[in-house]
Amino acid sequence: MKNTGVVGVHEDHVDLKDGSTYPTSTLIWTAGVKATDEAAKFGLTQARAGRIVVNSHMESQDDPDVYVVGDVSFFGGNSDRGEPQIVQGAEASAKTALTNIENKMAGKPGDVDYKASYSGFMVSLGSRYGVANLMNIFHLSGFFAMLMKHLVNMLYFLQNYSGYYFFQYLMHEFFRTKNDRNLMRGHTSRQGNVLWAVPARIFLGLMWLVDCAGKVSGKESWFLDKLRLPFDWLQPATTSGASAAGADATSAASGAAKAAAPAAKTVFSLSYQYGKEPMMVFDKMPNWMYTITKAMIPNQNVAFFMQKSMTIIEILIGLALVAGLFTWLSGAVSVAFTVIFCLSGMFYWVNIWMIPMAIAVMNGSGRAFGLDKWVVPYLQKTFGKWWYGTPKALYGSDTPK
Ligand SMILES: Cc1cc2nc3c(=O)[nH]c(=O)nc-3n(C[C@H](O)[C@H](O)[C@H](O)COP(=O)(O)OP(=O)(O)OC[C@H]3O[C@@H](n4cnc5c(N)ncnc54)[C@H](O)[C@@H]3O)c2cc1C
Repeated sequence: MKNTGVVGVHEDHVDLKDGSTYPTSTLIWTAGVKATDEAAKFGLTQARAGRIVVNSHMESQDDPDVYVVGDVSFFGGNSDRGEPQIVQGAEASAKTALTNIENKMAGKPGDVDYKASYSGFMVSLGSRYGVANLMNIFHLSGFFAMLMKHLVNMLYFLQNYSGYYFFQYLMHEFFRTKNDRNLMRGHTSRQGNVLWAVPARIFLGLMWLVDCAGKVSGKESWFLDKLRLPFDWLQPATTSGASAAGADATSAASGAAKAAAPAAKTVFSLSYQYGKEPMMVFDKMPNWMYTITKAMIPNQNVAFFMQKSMTIIEILIGLALVAGLFTWLSGAVSVAFTVIFCLSGMFYWVNIWMIPMAIAVMNGSGRAFGLDKWVVPYLQKTFGKWWYGTPKALYGSDTPK
């Protein structure tokens, strides 16, 4: 029933404006937004839904020294319904009023007019469905409309509020939603006991330490000024192609003791097969990786520095994972290192398990029998007082100078 106002609600029926009634015991009220009752107290002219009438400078039509912005203001413009009560309207009206107040205080001539610019409209229906009209060009519905709405909300949090609120929004909307009520149908918000990931965390940490064990001392140490990185441009000019040094470095990097025997046929496998040559994830670096790595490690001196610092970082990751310290970061760096080692032609398929394992321990597993139980709340408190937790104001500053 269109254009049918509800004027009364009762236990088993509602009264309609034309005097008729409609029987129902279930009522979902979606009647829209009205201005706060406080607006009536100012004695300024009000329009539809109690909004205060303003001119194009956002001045109340009764007193040019009173500015009204946002939902509570009513600028008729070309319509008798006023501008839509949405965030872009509120922002535009605030900007208009601010500029005009600044001009007036500085004694400058010229008033700025409210200029409506709406890049789109989105309506969410519950947590999974929605519709969006972007720039009057793209008409979306369902998943993509809701995705767009989340992206816009996140942008607002970053622009108008703080990193902390942005993070909380992300958690609340995607990762800590109850009853599957999120865009991903609950697949991203299943909660479990992080205790079960503790063995994986410690195992992964120990594996990094085992990988480094052979690199810290003895003839094979990565701390000696002996080239361990297998990149062709670093090899001495006298050595050609797949040099002895390269092959040596490759085996040292993977921790697999390769005998300098005639090359065996490589075998794809995710487990060791004795007597078979395991297959490299990348035999040869992809071209883009080759270019980047060559730029980053142009000569042997940089290579010596890199191989030492990478080994130190590996040891730190291993120790951190075992101790449950900065676990999320250590997991992320584990993934990054494994990917880099694979792309650099230094890791075999049998090492690939480290990636899903590292992702799995990023679930807060350092908080169970780990130092993160104490360190993470401390960091949250500390960063909360820093820029990360400080709300930003779009116009000027919230904190008095
Ligand atoms: C459910 C819902 C969904 C929405 N979804 C969207 C959307 O997807 N996209 C979009 O663009 N817009 C959306 N809107 C509209 C959008 O939220 C508003 O247009 C926007 O927040 C208006 O900003 P504002 O600053 O004018 O008012 P508000 O954001 O309402 O801020 C007014 C503030 O004043 C405070 N206040 C009230 N009375 C007093 C008083 N006497 N003293 C001190 N403080 C007081 C209130 O507590 C409030 O914090 C939605 C609104 C609702 C209700």
